[in-house]
Amino acid sequence: NRQILLVSRPQAEAGVDNFKLVETPVPALADGQVLVRHHYLSLDPYMRMRMSEAKSYAQPQPLNEVMIGGTVGEVVDSKNPGFKPGDTVRGMGGWQEYALVDANQRGVLQKVDAAHIPLSAYLGAVGMPGVTAWYGLVKIIQPKAGQTIVVSAASGAVGSAVGQLAKVRGCRAVGIAGGQEKCRYVTEELGFDACIDYKEHRDEKSLAGALKEAAPDGIDGCFENVGGVVLDAVMSQMNAFGRIALCGMISGYDGQPIPMARPQLILTQRMTLEGFIVSEHMEVWPEALKELGTLVATGTLKYRETVAQGLEQAPEAFLGLLKGRNFGKQLVKLI
Ligand code: NDP
Repeated sequence: NRQILLVSRPQAEAGVDNFKLVETPVPALADGQVLVRHHYLSLDPYMRMRMSEAKSYAQPQPLNEVMIGGTVGEVVDSKNPGFKPGDTVRGMGGWQEYALVDANQRGVLQKVDAAHIPLSAYLGAVGMPGVTAWYGLVKIIQPKAGQTIVVSAASGAVGSAVGQLAKVRGCRAVGIAGGQEKCRYVTEELGFDACIDYKEHRDEKSLAGALKEAAPDGIDGCFENVGGVVLDAVMSQMNAFGRIALCGMISGYDGQPIPMARPQLILTQRMTLEGFIVSEHMEVWPEALKELGTLVATGTLKYRETVAQGLEQAPEAFLGLLKGRNFGKQLVKLI
C-alpha cells in the first residue's frame, strides 16, 4: 500500500518536501472492517490549512501520518455485514491506495451508485464541493430570480456548480476566473452570463470596472472563494442588503496577507457576510445531493476534471491547485 505522509509544515508556500511517499503492507482485516481499493483521491484547498498549525476550524493534520483526503473506490474485502466486495464507496481514505475502514461508525463509508453517475463525480459535483456550492448559494445567498450572483474561482469544482445552480434559479450568473480559456469555458460550456478574467484586471479599480459592465444592475449575491482584491472589487459593486457567502479565501492560504480594503461597505450597504464550513451542515446534504445528482445525471449540471495519474503525482497536483494550474475538479487516479 503506497501512502503519502505529511512530514513537515510549510513556513510560507507549501512544497513537495512537506510530503513523503512510503510503502507499507496492506493490513489484515478485523471484525467490522472493510478494505477499500481507492480509484480516485480528491485534492482540495482545505488541505493547505490542515498542513499548518494556525488556528482554524479543524485540528491540524498530524505529522508523519497519511494526509487526509476524500476518496472513492471499491470494496475488495469485508468483515462487515454492511459491505461486500465490489461495492462502490465514498469515504475519507486519505492519500493512499488502500484504506482499512472501521465501517461500523455511521457515515464513514457510504455506498454510491456508479451506474448512473461516474464514480469520480462523488468527489466533485455530487460530493463535498457540490454541496458547498449548494449550501452557500441556497442557504446563505438565498437568491431570487432576476438577481445577479457573482462567484470567484468560477471554473473550479465549487464555483462551476454555484453559477449553474444560480442559473437554474433564474439568476444572472457572473464568474471571475484566471485566464481567457477558463472564462470561455465558464460562459460557453457552463452557461454563465459573463466571466471576468482577473488576470487581465490586476488592480481593484480595473476589476470593479469590469464587474460593473458584467453586472449593470449591481451585485445581489457574492459567493466568495478567493478573497483579497477580488473580494474588494465585488464588495464595491454590491447592492444594498446584498449577501456574501464567504466560502474560501484561497489567495491567502499560502500565507499572503489579504486585508479587506473597505469593511465599512458592510455597514453602509447593510450587507450580510457569513462564513461557513460545509461539513458542519450535514442536515442539508441529502437535499443538496438529491438536486445535484439529478442535475448531473440529466446532463444539466456540467463539470470538468483535471486528473493526475498515480499517487506519486499527488503533491505536485496539490501545489498546482493552489496556483490555479487545475481546470475544474482536481483528482488523482490511483488505479
Ligand atoms: P477549485 O477547483 O476552484 O481550485 C482552486 C482554484 O482557485 C484554482 O483553480 C484557481 O482558479 C483559484 N486560485 C488559486 N489560487 C488563487 C489566487 N491566489 N488568487 C485567485 N484565485 C486563485 O477549488 P475548489 O472548488 O475545491 O474550492 C474553491 C474554494 O472553495 C476554495 O477557496 C476552498 O477553500 C473553498 N471551499 C470551502 C468549503 C467550505 O466548507 N467553506 C468547502 C470546499 C471548498 P483560477 O485559475 O481561476 O484563479
